[in-house]
Amino acid sequence: MIESDVTVLDMEEEFRICPACGYKDGFHSMFRRDGEIMKWLFICPSCHKIFDIGLKA
Ligand SMILES: [Zn+2]
Repeated sequence: MIESDVTVLDMEEEFRICPACGYKDGFHSMFRRDGEIMKWLFICPSCHKIFDIGLKA
């Protein structure tokens, strides 16, 4: 597992503002294979932290 760089969040009404740095114009997407599933992750364009809100590709 190479997920220690990923912050797992509970999805609320909207995921637009970075909880780490406050950047508020959305995220870049990335994908990472995790066994049989492909996780859909989001990278903050400002602080480059990676977030997992539970989406799978
Ligand atoms: Zn950020």
